[in-house]
Amino acid sequence: MFSKNFQRKYALTDQGVKNVKKGAFWTVIVNLVVMGGMSILYLLMYGLMGTFTDDQPLPNAALLLGLVVVFLILSFVTHLQQYYATYGLVYNEVRSTRLSLAERLRKLPLGYFGKRDLADLTETIMGDVNRMEHVWSHVLGYLYGAYLSTAIIAVCLLVYDWRLAIACLWGVPVAFGLLFGTRRISARTSERTKKAAIRVSDGIQEALENVREIRATNQEERYLAGLNQKIDDHEKVTIQGELGTGIFVNAASVIMRLGVATTILVGAGLILSGQIDFMLLFLFLLVITRVYAPFDQSLALIAEMFVSQVSADRMNEIYDTPTAEGAEVFQPKGYDIEFDHVGFAYDKKKVLDGVSFTAREGEVTALVGPSGSGKSTCARLAARLWDVTEGSIKVGGVDISTVDPEALLTDYSMVFQDVVLFDDTVMENIRLGKRGATDDEVRAAAEAANCGEFICRLPQGYDTPIGENGAKLSGGERQRISIARALLKNAPIVLLDEATASLDVENETKVQGALSRLLAGKTVLVIAHRMRTVAGADHIVVLENGRVAEQGTPAELMECGGLYRRMVELQSESARWQLG
Ligand code: ADP
Repeated sequence: MFSKNFQRKYALTDQGVKNVKKGAFWTVIVNLVVMGGMSILYLLMYGLMGTFTDDQPLPNAALLLGLVVVFLILSFVTHLQQYYATYGLVYNEVRSTRLSLAERLRKLPLGYFGKRDLADLTETIMGDVNRMEHVWSHVLGYLYGAYLSTAIIAVCLLVYDWRLAIACLWGVPVAFGLLFGTRRISARTSERTKKAAIRVSDGIQEALENVREIRATNQEERYLAGLNQKIDDHEKVTIQGELGTGIFVNAASVIMRLGVATTILVGAGLILSGQIDFMLLFLFLLVITRVYAPFDQSLALIAEMFVSQVSADRMNEIYDTPTAEGAEVFQPKGYDIEFDHVGFAYDKKKVLDGVSFTAREGEVTALVGPSGSGKSTCARLAARLWDVTEGSIKVGGVDISTVDPEALLTDYSMVFQDVVLFDDTVMENIRLGKRGATDDEVRAAAEAANCGEFICRLPQGYDTPIGENGAKLSGGERQRISIARALLKNAPIVLLDEATASLDVENETKVQGALSRLLAGKTVLVIAHRMRTVAGADHIVVLENGRVAEQGTPAELMECGGLYRRMVELQSESARWQLG
């Protein structure tokens, strides 16, 4: 149980926990060996005192010399082991953590990537893991090793002389009490620092992505001022955070060191009253520096340990998100999509409730409803970009939550608003629709989607690189590429956001032609925006506030005079108004 909590708290892998144990073990050994060295020094001093007072030669000189040599060798070997166990093994831990985070991300529902953006996820995989690396290597082994060895040494000291032991060690619990008492403050400032850092990196990423729009609208100065403000905020919050934890850490360190003063005071009193001799006080003073040393080292880093909690939480958030996994083969009986009492919530906000309808193979099913009613969410769920929270979605009788998303998506074509293009040639961007498609197949699909004429105008035709995310293409051209991909893929299920297909006004009829080729005989689920297209659908599902308000054929719905009819009337009114 402790081990599990510990592992989670520091976002360690199983091997990482073992490494920390190893590191702590070797730290204890190192500290005990050093204590052994102190004892040799003590014996040496004791002997030398004898030679001064009684004019005797140093007794057991050869033995002491032998012990010193043994100590040096032991000290070297154990330090080496400790170094390897704390620093050396951590490199593997960093690698396996990054791999396991990446592996986890690969299996997460695709919708997750809309929730945490790229800057944020990159910060976790690179920045958060880096911060944890420092904690794993510099803090955990040392700190837990220091706890253990101090406990052992404290027992020895108590047995030797409890009065001096208390005078020597009282500062340790007080110092740690102070630090743990104020950890919430540290964690809060660190959360603030992290948020400020993310705002800066988001701002920079945004500026780079939108550089064209920013320049076009003469917003550079305003934008840069905003970015400067974010950077200043980050600096301010960071300094405040450092100062906050710095004060507590230094206070703790000073308190611990007060132990030296109390030991001298108590020791002097005991010597004066004749209860101990000077050599015992000398022994305690020797030991005390060694008790403090590992703690001092850890104290400086304990603040980092508290701060790291934020990084660990962000990593755990990825580990905790349920993955979307399932069977690698998808063999449905037909391609009807059946929503059965589907409920869904992003985070805690419920956006779909008891949604039931069937999109039949060979038919166009239109999702209609006011903005925010849940149309896009239904389309995303149908492709398992998210998993439903209640009810089920079946394709050809197979519950899609049992199918691996990759296998599932081979049967889907999606023509959504956010077309993702890669910094590659036009040819390769279309070929993404179907792995291994020949150049001729790609050309045929491009022609069918009316891409041919704009591709001809590109300097190298199909071999023209299109820049990062298609920077060199117009909006309409990007959409047609996306339709060409879908045509090439020729998947039995098509999810279509109508806004995508309707944007390109001048080519509308041509795109419509391409679309009807794409949609023929498929199961089509379209997020409809224009009532004109909806009128041609076979089945209409009207959503309102995440529930099905009504469904049926266009004629049936006009008949019953509900929300659908009101929307149709509203749109024709607004069309008249525009004309007028
Ligand atoms: P529509 O497509 O009908 O406009 P959506 O399915 O996009 O509706 O949205 C339904 C509700 O879910 C809205 O209230 C919207 O704010 C919310 N929503 C949509 N996407 C997300 C998301 N990624 N995270 C959180 N809430 C979301």
